[in-house]
Amino acid sequence: MAHRAILGWFLLLATVGAQDANASGGRLLPEQAAIDVRHYDLALTVDPQAKTISGACTMTARALTSVERVALHLDQRLTVSSVVVGERQVPFTHADGLVRVTLPGPVAEGGEVAVTIAYGGAPRVAPNPPWKGGFTWKETRDGQPWIATSCQGEGADLWWPCKDHPSDKPETFDLHITVPRGLVCASNGTLRKVERVKGGRRFHWHVANPISNYCVALNIAPYTVLKTTFVSVDGTRVPVEFYALPRNEAKAKKFLPEVLDHLKQMEEICGPYPFRNEKYGVAETPHLGMEHQTIIAYGNKYRVRQAFNYDWLHHHEMSHEWWGNLVTCKDWRDMWIHEGIGTYMQALYLESRRGPEAYAVQMTKKRRTLRNSRPIAPRASQDSKQIYFNPKGGFDNDLYDKGSWVMHTLRWVLGDKQFFKALRRMAYPDPKLEKVTDGSQGRFATTEGLRAIAEEHHGEDLRWFFDLYVRQPALPELVVKKDGGRLQLAWKTPGDVEFPMPVPVKLGKKIVRVPMPGGKATVALKGRVYEVDPNHRLLKVEPRRPGRRGRRR
Ligand SMILES: [Zn+2]
Repeated sequence: MAHRAILGWFLLLATVGAQDANASGGRLLPEQAAIDVRHYDLALTVDPQAKTISGACTMTARALTSVERVALHLDQRLTVSSVVVGERQVPFTHADGLVRVTLPGPVAEGGEVAVTIAYGGAPRVAPNPPWKGGFTWKETRDGQPWIATSCQGEGADLWWPCKDHPSDKPETFDLHITVPRGLVCASNGTLRKVERVKGGRRFHWHVANPISNYCVALNIAPYTVLKTTFVSVDGTRVPVEFYALPRNEAKAKKFLPEVLDHLKQMEEICGPYPFRNEKYGVAETPHLGMEHQTIIAYGNKYRVRQAFNYDWLHHHEMSHEWWGNLVTCKDWRDMWIHEGIGTYMQALYLESRRGPEAYAVQMTKKRRTLRNSRPIAPRASQDSKQIYFNPKGGFDNDLYDKGSWVMHTLRWVLGDKQFFKALRRMAYPDPKLEKVTDGSQGRFATTEGLRAIAEEHHGEDLRWFFDLYVRQPALPELVVKKDGGRLQLAWKTPGDVEFPMPVPVKLGKKIVRVPMPGGKATVALKGRVYEVDPNHRLLKVEPRRPGRRGRRR
């Protein structure tokens, strides 16, 4: 998700009150911990006039223990008409956003659990998509429906019954979506079939890779589809599909080469695009954007003439195909992996395509917003809203911008060569996985797992680095004193924890790396002019906010 308009969310909250505590993840219900979802089959008819959906969802799962009951989340705004197991209807309850089903008999460990829930109604209208999600029912200028779903913060149970937890992705997914004639439904995976049915057309999309529930999306409009091919680093020809509103066809066409360049740069740094056996897709949406797997929601209005003359929004959402969709946090406490590393990718794009100065300007810009009021990777389990919204209110970008600075400073510690090797292994831990497209190329990752990869490439323990930067909120302070002909450097840390962060010091014209064993060092100046951390490599307390002017010193 992109963070630009997050302020709007809070303004909205202030006016309507916290009416919906519906979040995703956090504590796993025992009934949900007992199953591993393998597949969802979602068949829905979307009625733009009535603003309703109706249909059925079949969940197929493997029992991890003996299972007698199934519990799936579904927003209370929707009404369940029946639940079928095997071929028989079974009793159910639907209360507090949870559909509870008692199976006709227990399913033994390793057995298959399949439940079909027929339901329908008016799903929540997204109050401020994508940050506060649901269905967005917009119209194009000529009055045709333009519909999008978004549900990262609340979970997909806003519109279909699911095990609403980030730790369980179905291996595959099928969508059968019926929309009125003249409209196109753009969704995840590959389009298997378009059928004429009563009242419209039914689109069958098949997802061949594991997918996070919140990444399943409907985009419905009288889209024009621009198609091209992207040749991946591994030689695969990947279909690229851009679903544009007809009036924006020319703009989309002009934008496509940049889309391909973003893909190319991400592959250069992070390895092959993970979903080469499906497609890379973009759908123009009436909200800013979301990392919907293989069908990125794009609502940045083709504003490529923004800062640095590139479309940051598209690049950001696309970077989530690696950081979020290939590499996924199992618990929302590790969401900085999606947003922090995802945000750092834009700086790397600018460095690669516009030069080091653009990278420096981007990082300086990101440094300004940090709040440091809570850890970006708390150790305790978090639901999607706990991790995303600061309980103290206000604007909090730390998951994004502090996360990107953690990567920036990690790069200083490891050095470019090892850092970029480590970054690639964070995406694909084994080079062999870069060749895989059967769904096993992705994984759940944790902060500890990424630390292990960084340590492997650094050859030294990095607990001190991650403990200080992501496990607690306060920044370290570098105390610099000039003592005669010597420079005294000392790290001041919260709780006086050990912090042997090496410090770059410019002495005369040369930048040297000063090791800081025990968090301290003394540098003999020998009459040379000095500057500490001249290129702002260190995430630390700044005496004043670094500005562009400061950088040119
Ligand atoms: Zn994002």
